[in-house]
Amino acid sequence: MMPIVLISLVSLIAIVVAVVLIPYNLKRKHIIRCAKSATNEQLEAIYSNIERLGSVQSTCAALARTNSRSGLDDDWKIPVPHYVETWGGRSIVLKEPEKEAFEFSPDKANEAVLNGCVYRLVPIPRNLTKSGKARNQYSPTKYVAANPDLLKALGAVCPKYPAELLSFLFNPGIETFEFDSTFQARVGGSASWVQDAEFPNCPLCKKRMVTIMQIPGELMPGKLRDGMFYFFGCAKHQGEAQTVVQFT
Ligand SMILES: [Zn+2]
Repeated sequence: MMPIVLISLVSLIAIVVAVVLIPYNLKRKHIIRCAKSATNEQLEAIYSNIERLGSVQSTCAALARTNSRSGLDDDWKIPVPHYVETWGGRSIVLKEPEKEAFEFSPDKANEAVLNGCVYRLVPIPRNLTKSGKARNQYSPTKYVAANPDLLKALGAVCPKYPAELLSFLFNPGIETFEFDSTFQARVGGSASWVQDAEFPNCPLCKKRMVTIMQIPGELMPGKLRDGMFYFFGCAKHQGEAQTVVQFT
């Protein structure tokens, strides 16, 4: 009797794997292929559409995928867009020699380059809630709804899964089409913690520091898959900045 139960159980698991995982993986691979085949012009048509979405000025940017490279594999620098309060106009680099912490650089960066890959800084759409408060709209699936031009631009790259393509482009740290804001690479805005919140305090005024940036470990030089790297600063004491690392 026992072997029959066991054989049935194993068959059931095999069927579940075949029915759920195989289509998921085929879809994932299809979307990755489409994204990799996109031209700069096609990606720019997508990202410039998103720039027009918010009803109020953006204060935060997401790093979105491109297919461009800078030429050097160890290039790593991020310019803070002008619309990010306090830190706009600066450049963030890795602290030598460990390269597992961030610091500001006096050198100006023209584009975001991580491990030699170029990322497009896309302003996160910001809208007013019913109570009149401005709020960032992180989820790209919401951008597609009621935006025919954006849907058209996405469909030119991936006609089958346009919305999922956008999720893939906006989550460069993970190879999936299921968007997760926790692992998004962002400059400005608020930290999405993978563990309990760990805001550092400014060593000078003791006040809680504000989020400058968050980067998934996959985009760091060591490709630290399970890590999330956060960068904080004090608006009053701008020489003070700290990196916090969490692991899932
Ligand atoms: Zn301070």
